Amino acid sequence: MEHCRGRFAPSPTGPLHFGSLIAAVGSYLEARSRGGEWLVRVEDLDPPRVVPGAVGDILRALDACGMHWDGQVIYQSARSDAYHTALHELRQRSLIYPCACSRREIADSAVTGVDGFVYPGTCRAGLPAGKTARALRVNTRNAAIGFVDALQGRIRQDLETDVGDFIIYRADRVFAYQLAVVVDDAEQGITDVVRGADLLDSTPRQIYLQRLLGFATPRYAHLPVAVNAEGEKLSKQTFAPAIDPRRPVPQLVAALRFLGQEIPPALEQADVRSLWDWALGNWNLARVPRARSLGEFSVEGVTGDR
Ligand code: GLU
Repeated sequence: MEHCRGRFAPSPTGPLHFGSLIAAVGSYLEARSRGGEWLVRVEDLDPPRVVPGAVGDILRALDACGMHWDGQVIYQSARSDAYHTALHELRQRSLIYPCACSRREIADSAVTGVDGFVYPGTCRAGLPAGKTARALRVNTRNAAIGFVDALQGRIRQDLETDVGDFIIYRADRVFAYQLAVVVDDAEQGITDVVRGADLLDSTPRQIYLQRLLGFATPRYAHLPVAVNAEGEKLSKQTFAPAIDPRRPVPQLVAALRFLGQEIPPALEQADVRSLWDWALGNWNLARVPRARSLGEFSVEGVTGDR
């Protein structure tokens, strides 16, 4: 059987909720149904956003949901050396440069791209006299990046005009998610990235960094993101309720239905084990709705409508 390794990479900004459960379930099934491994990586790079206790809550909820991971959980906060090595390599090859621009300066002169302002390249040719660096950016060198997402189809970006030279090391001495995720996915040998479609627009940046660093590009499948009636992503900020570890089955059934899987009603009363037996035998990625977001789902304590 073809080797396959997936991962779930939660940011510990709060407990597992319906929105993050979908990414966990989708990545788990895509890996496990093919006999592959499934890893958990805690994306705790950004100290102010880390909520004490959230890691424990997330791991306990996964456990209660019967989703067991392979190997040790990896913490990005402990992986600065690996990110430094990648940064060093990019620097030696003059692929990154220091940038002195403030958010305000960029906002004043930039156009909006696929993910906020497109950096206009002000510091590409060198820092303006008397200015000090606030961040490091990677030179996008006019790269055109295309890939085929298993769910969202063909995606193409011209990085320079759609995104601009992007930050890989921040002013507050934090490695940017884009760099960390690429280094980690490569080092952990991830072959299949299954995650929410809110990250679809980040993927070309990640593929670009993979190419610069000589890493393989995994297969990608971006799942629809659960949104509330206002069209907002379910998250801590939108007060998505935590998964109840004492009653995981209704939430799992709702997540599987959200992902287009046709669960026999009898399984609504099943135990976690029987539900996974069915889900692993019947998982079909092709049934997942090919949308970037979806608002129609309902489970006790969590409802959404279109
Ligand atoms: N840590 C990201 C999140 O929780 C996911 C990153 C990824 O899957 O690449 O949204």
